[in-house]
Amino acid sequence: MSGLKCAIYRYGLTINRHAYCQLGTDYRRVFGCVNNHNLSKYNLQIYRTKHENASITPKLIDDREINSITQNGKPFRTFPNLSEGPDLKDFIKSDVTVDSTETEPVPYLKATCGNDRKVYFSVYGCQMNVSDTEIIWSILKKTGYQKTDTMTEADVILLVTCAIRDAAEQKIWHKLVHLKHYKKWRSLRSDKPPLKVGLLGCMAERLKHKLLETDKIVDVVAGPDSYKDLPRLLSLTEDNQTAINVILSYDETYADVTPVRINQDSVTAFVSIMRGCDNMCTYCIVPFTRGRERSRPIASILDEVSHLSDQGVKEVTLLGQNVNSYRDLSESKFATADKSDPKLAAGFKTVYKPKIGGLRFSDLLDKVSQINPEMRIRFTSPHPKDFPDEVLQLIAERPNICRNIHLPAQSGNSTVLERMRRGYTREAYISLVEHIREIIPDISLSSDFICGFCGETEEEFADTISLMQMVKYNMAYLFAYSMREKTTAHRRHEDNVDPKVKQDRLRRMITIYRTEVQKLNEAMIGRQYLVLVEKKSRKSEFNMQGRTSGNIKVIFPRGSIQDNRCTTKSRNIEAGDYVVVQIINANSQVLKGIPLYHSSITQYALSTGNHYERMAYNL
Ligand code: SAM
Ligand code: SF4
Repeated sequence: MSGLKCAIYRYGLTINRHAYCQLGTDYRRVFGCVNNHNLSKYNLQIYRTKHENASITPKLIDDREINSITQNGKPFRTFPNLSEGPDLKDFIKSDVTVDSTETEPVPYLKATCGNDRKVYFSVYGCQMNVSDTEIIWSILKKTGYQKTDTMTEADVILLVTCAIRDAAEQKIWHKLVHLKHYKKWRSLRSDKPPLKVGLLGCMAERLKHKLLETDKIVDVVAGPDSYKDLPRLLSLTEDNQTAINVILSYDETYADVTPVRINQDSVTAFVSIMRGCDNMCTYCIVPFTRGRERSRPIASILDEVSHLSDQGVKEVTLLGQNVNSYRDLSESKFATADKSDPKLAAGFKTVYKPKIGGLRFSDLLDKVSQINPEMRIRFTSPHPKDFPDEVLQLIAERPNICRNIHLPAQSGNSTVLERMRRGYTREAYISLVEHIREIIPDISLSSDFICGFCGETEEEFADTISLMQMVKYNMAYLFAYSMREKTTAHRRHEDNVDPKVKQDRLRRMITIYRTEVQKLNEAMIGRQYLVLVEKKSRKSEFNMQGRTSGNIKVIFPRGSIQDNRCTTKSRNIEAGDYVVVQIINANSQVLKGIPLYHSSITQYALSTGNHYERMAYNL
């Protein structure tokens, strides 16, 4: 047993700590991340691996013991407080120059190679999870994994999960029950290695150890900031261990990971620009599952968008939980760039200390939209508080920034908004809508609404309905409130609206939304729109589908149309083309049209004086 030693290191720039054991002259990481300063609390266990000397038995190590261990006559240092912890320089001899461009194999780390094991992704929840999956896939691909789109071929199944509402979590629990049976069936087949199941993302963060304990279906649990650790976590499962890393980071943005697109043929792509949320709306679990707000450095975003443009991608959606709260403070010149007011929309406030300085969302939008004037730019999901005039002016001026703003209202009643801690009143929200429409008259608006939040009365709910009727949204995501543990609402309020009442209110919101959107869509009949062709229609192989700048789906027949407005030459319509479509029919979900001619964002903006629609009689 002698020769078994342990030390704690602060790992890179993250706040994680790791424990290592020394076996003879060899070091090996023995535990995931240690986020507690007191090791004894963790009953840190030295796991045996198949390479270990059989005479060594697992042993618990505690703080006192670590302090008594010496190396070359000097004690190992442990660091009870993070601020007193070792820095990079503590690990570098003063007379050594380090070439940071070379990475050498680390002898004490277990090989993390995927060995061509096939991984299958099952993605739930929002677009952020789709974007995260592309980051995860990039990390795993680099370490020798292959991807399969057929679950039965997979050696590793990874569920990228959502915890925003109970219904989202229930879906995943059902999937786990299914996987339990499948795993058992598969273990009886001798020709295949044991199947491993990983649960990643928000639900992993929320339920942590419970997931490993329940029925032992899950082998790996990794939170949204731990994806770089996945190859190591998965390698631990080869020894039938379970592995978990759910440490949230203050600075992880995956800026150094180039995502590998899951759907390589798609003409649209998502680019994650910030992570986490500092808003703490009382109903929402996101700040607890995704951690503090942090923005990716602007240079890495511009690189990624340029790369996508080179690959022929025609539309990029910038993603973040509060995408327009983006603020790049990564370089000191940015950090001192602007010490003026935080430029919140009028009548809006935040619960956190206003952030100052840095490059803001308008700076990013300006630069991203200049990369390729023929590439459309969208962004989601924004918070209504962060719409200064600079952002609105840019949308108004740049034909390639799409004419759609998502403006999540959540409720139309100021008292409910106060209980939700949204930082605005009904009146401030309506003023913002009016202001947006003054600057961008042809804007389409979308929103999120929650009904049945704690204590919501019938009168308060009526204000939500009236707001929907007043604003008239082209798209709306409507939810019945679902109480989440850890949130302020869970601690301070009562989930006291009867589930039947919630469902009834949800139905009423859906009816109102559909009625209003049907009217908006019908008003588009007879007009022309520039449509980005996305793919063949799912319902008919004779039709194509695309979207207007306002993000409204349009279906139209395939075939050959004029190459441009003033020629007799024609060519086929392909995904990635911009075509001008005349709308001939509409319902609450979709527009139907006749494709007229090929065009481009620039040509169309010039011919319409930067307006996106032309009346049919103007032909
Ligand atoms: N950050 C964006 C904002 O605040 O406007 C929204 C992002 S959130 C992930 C997506 C939507 O889920 C929210 O706008 C809200 O409508 C809904 N949501 C969040 N928590 C919910 C809960 N506990 N019950 C029902 N819906 C919820
Ligand atoms: Fe959730 Fe509010 Fe943050 Fe949106 S702003 S992610 S609703 S806490």
